[in-house]
Amino acid sequence: MLNYSDEELVAYLEESLPLEKAADLEKRLRSPESDENKALLDRLQQLILTRDSGTHTIGEIWKRHRLSCPTREDLGRYILEAMSDEESTYIKIHIEVTECDVCRSNLDDLLHATLQANQAAINDRRGRYFQSSVGRLKKQ
Ligand SMILES: [Zn+2]
Repeated sequence: MLNYSDEELVAYLEESLPLEKAADLEKRLRSPESDENKALLDRLQQLILTRDSGTHTIGEIWKRHRLSCPTREDLGRYILEAMSDEESTYIKIHIEVTECDVCRSNLDDLLHATLQANQAAINDRRGRYFQSSVGRLKKQ
């Protein structure tokens, strides 16, 4: 099991920890049932407190995107690519690296709904086009 220095934990918060390490760390933070993982989480929270001191930058991003799941709205914006690269990277990591099942199925669900909505819009356009063609034919 990997061990983490304070520097590495800070690097994690600053998004500069190598991806494999970040993924390992994140997996452990997501299962605080083990004492070892709980200790890591405590250290990380302590670091956030001492580093952030009131500003909501790293701590907020971390809370919003790392340990807690993104909201359905966030996932929707992720699909539509209506978010910053930074945000979409968090979600990508959350889903693809930490393999959060909840968000995966949410995302599948949303993708499906988006595809259906697109298809409906296409059908609608087709329908209107067809009708206007019929209208033109009738007039002739
Ligand atoms: Zn999730």
